[in-house]
Amino acid sequence: MTTELTLPEDIHPDIRLIDDQFLGLPHLIGTYVLLGDEPALVDPGPSTTIAGLEAGLAADGLSFDDIRALLLTHIHLDHAGATGTLVTRYPHLRVYVHQVGAPHVIDPERLIRSATRLYGDDMDRLWGEIRPVPESNVTALSGGETLNLGRRMLHVYDTPGHASHHVTYFDPASAAAFVGDVTGVRFPDTNYARPATPPPDIDLEAWHDSLDTLLELDPSQLLLTHFGPGLKPEVHIESFRERLTRWAQVAREGLEDGESESVQINQLRTVAEAELDAANVEDEVKESYELATPIDQSWQGLARYWRKRADV
Ligand SMILES: [Zn+2]
Repeated sequence: MTTELTLPEDIHPDIRLIDDQFLGLPHLIGTYVLLGDEPALVDPGPSTTIAGLEAGLAADGLSFDDIRALLLTHIHLDHAGATGTLVTRYPHLRVYVHQVGAPHVIDPERLIRSATRLYGDDMDRLWGEIRPVPESNVTALSGGETLNLGRRMLHVYDTPGHASHHVTYFDPASAAAFVGDVTGVRFPDTNYARPATPPPDIDLEAWHDSLDTLLELDPSQLLLTHFGPGLKPEVHIESFRERLTRWAQVAREGLEDGESESVQINQLRTVAEAELDAANVEDEVKESYELATPIDQSWQGLARYWRKRADV
C-alpha cells in the first residue's frame, strides 16, 4: 500500500469526531457527533472520559442537554461504558443498541464480570463507573432498521464478528459508515488496520460476512472508534480482511502445535510487530496499537474461537 491510497482525514461537515483523550492520550477512543436538529453521539466511550466528551461538545456549542440519543455500535466498555452514567444524569437520552447487547446495558453485571476477567484491578482506572440503563430508555436493534434523528436518517446493519452484538450505522446523506471495531483499529497517519479480537465472542465467518455487508454499502468513509476516518474503504477492508485471516491462522497453528500459551501469544506478537514495521508505524503509535488492542487479549479471543469450533 502507498500513501496515495489514503484520503484526507476530514469528515463530512455535519459529523464531528471528538477525541475522548482516554488515559490522557490522543487518538485512543473517539466519539462521533451527528449534528443536526436532533444531535446524537455514536459510542460515548467510558465514564472516565465524560469530561473530555463534554469539552468536545462545548467546542461545537453543544451540551448533553442538546444530545437526543446515544448510538452504540456495541457494548464493550471502551465504546459504551459511560452509557448508564450519562442516562442517569440526562434521562432524556435514548439509547440504541443491538438486541443481544441490550439486556447487558440494562443489567451490566455480566458485562462487568466478563470485563473484570480481562482487566482485573485496572477496571476502575480504565473504565470508571458502570451503571445500568433503565429499560425504558433502550431501543433494541437487530439490523434492517431505519432510525430518524430529526431530519437525519440512519440505516442499521447487523455486523457481528468482533462482537456478537455489533451494529454499523450508515448515514445515506454522507455515505459514511460508523463501523465501531468491525474494520479493526487504525490510527491517523498510518495505513495499518489491526484486528481487535478480544474474547468472548469472536466469530470469523460472521466477521467476513460483515465485511462483505460493508463493501456492498460502498461507503464514502469508514469512521472508526479507534480512530477516525482514513484509508479508502475498499482498500481498508481488504487489507484488514487479509490481516484478520492471517492472525486467525497464526493462532490456529499455535494451538495445533500445542505450545504454551505464552509462546503462542509471542508468536502472534512477532507477526503483529513485523506488520507494524512493514507499515512504517512510529514507535509512539505502536504503543497506542498495543494499548487499544493488547496482543494477549487478541490471542485469547482467537484461541477461544478455535476451541469453540473444536477443530483444534
Ligand atoms: Zn473498541
